[in-house]
Amino acid sequence: MPGNLSFDALKQAISQGEIDTVVAAQVDMQGRLMGKRFQAKYFINSAYKETHSCNYLLATDMEMETVEGYRSTSWESGYGDYTMKPDLSTLRRVPWLEGTAYVLCDVVDHNRHEEVPHSPRAILKRQVARLEAMGMKAMMATELECFLFEQSYEEAQETGYRDLKTVSKYNEDYHIFQTTKEENVMRAIRNGLHGAGVEVECTKGEASVGQEEINIKYSDALDMADTHAFVKNGCKEIAWGQRRALTFLAKWHNEAAGNSSHIHQSLWSIEGNRPLFRDANGQYGMSDLMRHYVAGQLHHASDITCFLAPYINSYKRFAEGTFAPTKAIWSKDNRTAGYRICGDGSDAVRVECRIGGSDLNPYLAMAALIAAGLDGIENKRELEDEFKGDAYASANARSVPRTLRAATAALDGSSMLRTAMGEEVIDHYVHAARWEQEEFDRRVTDWEVARGFERA
Ligand code: ADP
Repeated sequence: MPGNLSFDALKQAISQGEIDTVVAAQVDMQGRLMGKRFQAKYFINSAYKETHSCNYLLATDMEMETVEGYRSTSWESGYGDYTMKPDLSTLRRVPWLEGTAYVLCDVVDHNRHEEVPHSPRAILKRQVARLEAMGMKAMMATELECFLFEQSYEEAQETGYRDLKTVSKYNEDYHIFQTTKEENVMRAIRNGLHGAGVEVECTKGEASVGQEEINIKYSDALDMADTHAFVKNGCKEIAWGQRRALTFLAKWHNEAAGNSSHIHQSLWSIEGNRPLFRDANGQYGMSDLMRHYVAGQLHHASDITCFLAPYINSYKRFAEGTFAPTKAIWSKDNRTAGYRICGDGSDAVRVECRIGGSDLNPYLAMAALIAAGLDGIENKRELEDEFKGDAYASANARSVPRTLRAATAALDGSSMLRTAMGEEVIDHYVHAARWEQEEFDRRVTDWEVARGFERA
């Protein structure tokens, strides 16, 4: 659901003294919210039209390094500005921040007068527009998993992220009693997001010690991505407000399961708002359109992995027997499969891509999935036979790339993605992935020191 505050309602809330601050944010390459806090009066008088941010926000890494080698910006070009253009349909109240509203911005190149091609929101819009031209829209839901800790972010940082205490001491998958103990944080998250206009379905304990899941009702892809970015930031803010840390890192500990962000997908007609994946006569109630869509994602499974698993750490999550997939195959209601068919035989028949972790950028992930699915539709790709059984145990099934290096090479070589998203965009994200790899390669890890310090 788009925001819950019209521009008029915002003006009224400001005049009544209910709102004094407007957060205007754009999404960066990591899917994070970056922006400014406006004095509300200034926002409604001026900044609602546009504001500006340094163009390095779409050329930095997690640490905000000024990474050399991007074509879009550099020290040489002086790291100038982009325009941030608030999308007023995303205006929301932020109940957990006093007197605060929030709006998401598009990133526009003020010389070219068009959206910056490598801006994540623009990348997703481009794929959504391709669907729209065919009379369709993608309905998506991105689940989010995270680990909740007893310590605050500050305490975690001070101790070098050692001796972290998870909020539970046992696997809390579906546990009501254990999650009761976490309600001070999780209830605040559900109710806070609900008050911000987010259609929260539920939270639940997940299949690891201290792990939580947050489910949001499916929506069209752009709205879902906007919501995902807002929810992730909101969860951190709410937990921080209670002096608790939570992490969306794909794999925070060797012994723990990973954090997934499964992406449920179905295509609907724009006219008449009908689900198009349903055919009562098809296998599991799947239409030919759905079969081609899934076939496209399987065909390009390696090409799109970098957008589902963007960091070194993302690949640590792909571990057998942890509910995170290692094989890019499809199977009905099978949690060992990378692509799980859900809601078989019903109007809600859909494909759940289980490859992505909670560290993914939702705009890039959904754009890549749509692009691969559309390739399947346009080329009428045949859906391979269903995989049955334990996919972890299958030596022959198509593997998910096991390293960022392999996934980056597949992204770089993907003519499908280069055509769908543009050469400039793919070169930009290949550069980001290579930088991530190089940054890791030049570091000595704790594991290496402990293993070899005395014995090497
Ligand atoms: P799970 O057992 O995987 O948790 P759920 O029934 O809770 O499955 O649904 C998971 C997600 O799928 C929810 O976020 C829901 O909104 C979404 N979903 C349901 N129907 C559809 C659909 N037709 N298209 C896309 N997503 C859907």
